[in-house]
Amino acid sequence: MEYRKNDIVTLKIEDCGIDGEGIGKADGFTVFVKDAVIGDTVRAKIMKAKKNYGYGRLEEILTPSPNRVEPECAFARQCGGCQLQALSYEKQLEFKAGKVKGHLERIGGFTDIPMEEILGMEQPFHYRNKAQFPVGKSKDGRIITGFYAGRTHSIIENRDCALGVSQNKEVLDRVISHMEKYHIQPYDENTGKGLVRHVLIRYGFFTDEMMVCLIINGEELPGEDALVKSLREIPETVSVMVNVNKKRNNVILGETVRLLWGKPYITDKIGEISYQISPLSFFQVNPYQTGRLYGKALEYADLTSNETVWDLYCGIGTISLFLAQKAKMVRGVEIIPAAIENAKENAKLNGFTNTEFFVGKAEEVLPEQYARTGERADVIVVDPPRKGCDETLLATIIEMQPDRVVYVSCDSATLARDLKYLCAHGYQLKKVCPVDMFPNTVSVETVVLLSKGKVDSKKIRVEFSLEDMDMSEFQDGATYPQIKEYVLEHTGLKVSNLYISQIKRKCGIGVGKNYNLPKSEDSRQPQCPPEKEKAIREAFKYFGMI
Ligand code: SAH
Repeated sequence: MEYRKNDIVTLKIEDCGIDGEGIGKADGFTVFVKDAVIGDTVRAKIMKAKKNYGYGRLEEILTPSPNRVEPECAFARQCGGCQLQALSYEKQLEFKAGKVKGHLERIGGFTDIPMEEILGMEQPFHYRNKAQFPVGKSKDGRIITGFYAGRTHSIIENRDCALGVSQNKEVLDRVISHMEKYHIQPYDENTGKGLVRHVLIRYGFFTDEMMVCLIINGEELPGEDALVKSLREIPETVSVMVNVNKKRNNVILGETVRLLWGKPYITDKIGEISYQISPLSFFQVNPYQTGRLYGKALEYADLTSNETVWDLYCGIGTISLFLAQKAKMVRGVEIIPAAIENAKENAKLNGFTNTEFFVGKAEEVLPEQYARTGERADVIVVDPPRKGCDETLLATIIEMQPDRVVYVSCDSATLARDLKYLCAHGYQLKKVCPVDMFPNTVSVETVVLLSKGKVDSKKIRVEFSLEDMDMSEFQDGATYPQIKEYVLEHTGLKVSNLYISQIKRKCGIGVGKNYNLPKSEDSRQPQCPPEKEKAIREAFKYFGMI
């Protein structure tokens, strides 16, 4: 059955979408309903309809799900931060573990997945060590702060977010009353006028050190000393700073910071390791779960102090230092130079002498270093952003043949894609452990252990032998069937001998004389489409032909 805009449907919610919306079916027509949870039976109004699916607005919950709970935060429905607060925590965990497993099955093509139990929190609230509150004005002209409503920039007034620390409210109360007293205007995105844009608060969970940083559209703040005095009355305050951002864009932080009082950073610990965190540093936001996540990565790395380890996408070296406790040598790679500076400082702060850090793209640094030194690695850890690893990097990992690969992922779809590649090249999926770093939101992190497979299956034997062999034996590269098989396996595309020969010619690789050459200029031979050309070129690269 097909539905149209404004139709009313009744459905049972059976699944949860990537943004936490409920998903149900009405006569085979799939409807996404925001604010409905798995197990609800709801009445929804279709707001947008496509051929087989549509988006509905929740009109009424006819039978509430047994998994429905009263959200802790009164603004849960409007605010863009939490998508799952109305679902019991137990079901949230089930949903997240199921999401990871589903991606590994559907995208990765895995069966019999060695899933470990998801690591959830005991108290899934007040876990964030960082909060950035936008400051603005209400309709009646009051200075307000809170969070952006989902997908908008209108502020939902709330100084006491259920995910943040209790000190946030006290800081915000003091900042707002300071602004009122000194007649300081909040920044207005529409006009670019006004001074205070955001209040950034960072809190060290294991040290109880707090930093308050005001992001301002100017150089100075009226009454700076008075503000410092007020904020220092909160016992945890160790740092008060301003960050200057005069740009008219959506980026929260500007590039320069100025210390008003105290230290320019806070220190926090994860396990035994201390980290210095400044306003601009990237640091995991859930310190309890970060310890468990890194602990899992360390367990999977299975180090005995003799190993050489690479930590790719290392940020400020958080995982690197964790690993360095038990490895002979850890080499970290990260694209942001300032993060590498932090990584080096953190290594020094903790007295490590067995770490080395490189600025650059993982997919460039690792192949360069491997080509230069020829040194193999025992373990390679990757923790890429959502888009996952670049294929060049995966190919280098295959070439280096580490005993174990530990993959830390914040997006299980790209994780599944990358694991499929690694396992098609001889690695075996040994363990999968989802970790709930962001309770009440839809995100889930996953740690995966891969180990070097035994060279026993027929297919793998072919691939390994080609890899390990001296390529000079294959002057002409791989055979047509080998190229076809490689392309099919890696992209699912079928390519003809004709296409392969066309691309060979383009790449200047010898093809049999007159092989598939057009008989005359105007003869209409089909031309290899670009996606197939790309896939064939990848195969050529793999077989060392280009
Ligand atoms: N492992 C770190 C950071 C993980 S976040 C931690 O747990 O704290 C992913 C990191 O990858 C970010 O710091 C980002 O700057 C970095 N990054 C993104 N693309 C990259 C690339 N191509 N090569 C290396 N690092 C990259």
